[in-house]
Amino acid sequence: MATLQKKRQVERTQTLLVVDDRSENLEAMQALLEDGDWQLRCVSSGEAALQCLLNEEVGLVLLDVQMPHMDGFEVARLMRGNPRTRFIPIIFISAIAQTEDAVLQGYATGAVDFMLKPFDPKVLRHKIHSLLDHERNRSELQQLTQQLDSARAFNASVLDNAAEGIMVVGEDGLVRFANPAMAQMLRCSVAELQGSALLSHLRSPEVDCEWHSSKFYRNWQQGKTYRVHEASLRTGDGDSIPVALSCSPLPKLQRAMVVLALDMSVVRSLHTQLESLAVTDPLTGLLNRRGFHKALEAALSRSGRSGQRLALLYLDLDGFKRINDSLGHGVGDQLLRRVGEQLKSSLRPYDTLARVGGDEFTAVIDGLGHTEDAARVAEKLIEQVSVRHSLNGVDFTIGASVGIACFPECGQSVESLLRAADMAMYEAKRAGRQQYRFFLPEMNGRARSRLMLEESLRTAIDQDDFVLVYQPQVYLDSGRLRGFEALLRWQHRVAGTVAPSVFIPLLEETRLINRLGDWIFRQGARQFCGMGRPPADELVLSINVSPVQFSMPQLVEDLGRVLDDYQLNPAQLEVEVTESALMQSLENTQEQLRQLRLLGVKIAIDDFGTGYSSLAYLRHFELDTLKIDRLFIANMLDSPRDAAVVSTIIDLGRNLGLEVIAEGVETAAQREWLVEHQCPIMQGFLVAPGLAADDAQAFPAQLDWNALPRSARPNDS
Ligand code: C2E
Ligand code: CA
Ligand code: CA
Repeated sequence: MATLQKKRQVERTQTLLVVDDRSENLEAMQALLEDGDWQLRCVSSGEAALQCLLNEEVGLVLLDVQMPHMDGFEVARLMRGNPRTRFIPIIFISAIAQTEDAVLQGYATGAVDFMLKPFDPKVLRHKIHSLLDHERNRSELQQLTQQLDSARAFNASVLDNAAEGIMVVGEDGLVRFANPAMAQMLRCSVAELQGSALLSHLRSPEVDCEWHSSKFYRNWQQGKTYRVHEASLRTGDGDSIPVALSCSPLPKLQRAMVVLALDMSVVRSLHTQLESLAVTDPLTGLLNRRGFHKALEAALSRSGRSGQRLALLYLDLDGFKRINDSLGHGVGDQLLRRVGEQLKSSLRPYDTLARVGGDEFTAVIDGLGHTEDAARVAEKLIEQVSVRHSLNGVDFTIGASVGIACFPECGQSVESLLRAADMAMYEAKRAGRQQYRFFLPEMNGRARSRLMLEESLRTAIDQDDFVLVYQPQVYLDSGRLRGFEALLRWQHRVAGTVAPSVFIPLLEETRLINRLGDWIFRQGARQFCGMGRPPADELVLSINVSPVQFSMPQLVEDLGRVLDDYQLNPAQLEVEVTESALMQSLENTQEQLRQLRLLGVKIAIDDFGTGYSSLAYLRHFELDTLKIDRLFIANMLDSPRDAAVVSTIIDLGRNLGLEVIAEGVETAAQREWLVEHQCPIMQGFLVAPGLAADDAQAFPAQLDWNALPRSARPNDS
């Protein structure tokens, strides 16, 4: 009911304009049309009609054709010229009989109908009704179109001006629509996007299936919105851009989805910035406690995987509080910054360093070879910090105490290691500051003695505290001297002679052996020449070459120079290498052996039988001598197994044309066994221990077996 009334009201507001220059006509019309569903307006000239049309909404004009000044046709023409009045229907009313021309002219100016006087009022009313209806429909339609147009323009401007990328993707996975922001984000044009596959723009999550199995499609099919918070898109120029994606189905009929891409670059970089702020110490720029936890955790899982060791150093400044209190926090801060820099400069660039509390610093040393290395670093850190500082014109010194906890021995987790290092640090403080302490007490002793040993080795090299002794090698059948093996001795100023088994491994680890190696060759060659005994050029000098030495590319060159300098026959020099040295790297070994062979020196395998004793390398490498390890010799008379090993090696040597030397022969019984088994050469305390150069020179070229004791034990020598 209400709508009907409203409609009536609307209809009533429709205005019917009657234009006639004669008042009696107007009155007649008024009488005729007064009671209609419209509002009646009557004017008496074309000008007045136009004026009214401009001011009011008119639904229909009844226009008299003949009027003075401006006739009906002229009014109609002017109406058609104005967009506001262009479509208002006009019925011409004319008293004169119409010529065909006049009617045509009327229609040409836009009349929709003609009524000739006299007319049937019923017909007129009917025409008026239907034309007003028509006009109302037309204007409603026009209004709707306008609304639609403006809605469309509004939508388009929303899409055009949206800062987020918006795409409409069809059920086939192809882009149907993309807004300018989307194109800008992907650094291409809207036209390029249109018709391209959505998945082709996606870098992550990686979708390696086809569209119809993708989550995009499957969610769409189920009418669900699919969101990817951490996606990244591939731009036209190959870059990646982090985005958040949402993909919502459009109404079923559209068979498409709308994809929204939110550029997350700024958010993500802000995120990382915040994250880095959260893990750094603003004062020193080092990691803070939280950052350190993370770094240590990562280092632990790395070390856990690789089986490598790691040390956690906990450093606390000695006397910082005093300075902070007396010189003020400003100076305290400056000092902490400086200490941070000093600590950083004494670590490797990839070591982790953090300030975890007021004056507490921590460092992670990973890829640790020996615990002693951690002690060395701790010493260096303490030394770095404990210098004279001068800040704000005041000179002062501080110190540092360091606690060390090693992974895996002292703990496996971040917490347990931190606790252990912290406890060790307190131990260091208690012990009188300016020191480091390991969490495990036994590590302290080991580290200290090793560091001391290393230190004294360096001094020993500088002070020339080494000598060579020469142990004779003798042919078992004839008793004739084959030559000597040069053995290194350290004449310690306090401890006396130190055996190589104590220090050679350390020389190897620290690579100090390289500094000593050339000295051994030269000293050996010089003293060997000095032995000047006929027939000297048949004697052999055996020199031990450690794995590190053997791996050095300049070994052959060094040896060549020594041979030259001392005019030695290369065949008189024998290089003793262990199996492990040969097994380091087969390629290098092969090349090194080839070079040694070219040089003309002999090659012996030391401690044969203890290592891999691989028959393969006996085949691959050209060798001269096998030295049976002295453990086999020591046990062979009691152990049939060892005896079997020894006799096998002897046979092997004979068959391959190699010399075989039995090492460590201490008793006549062993010698007799070897003679019986046709071992060609022996070396051992039975004949002589390593002799000083002078004694070696005096050693007989021909041995009388009967003059020897029945046995000679190590402590006899
Ligand atoms: P090696 O090459 O197997 O040296 C033989 C070792 O056996 C020597 O010990 C020698 O003194 C000892 N020995 C000799 N005869 C007997 C015996 O009848 N009974 C017992 N129980 N031992 C005997 P040393 O001199 O202590 O040398 C130990 C190792 O140190 C050597 O083993 C060698 O690998 C290394 N070495 C010695 N001198 C040098 C050197 O100048 N350079 C390098 N790179 N290594 C060396
Ligand atoms: Ca040897
Ligand atoms: Ca040996």
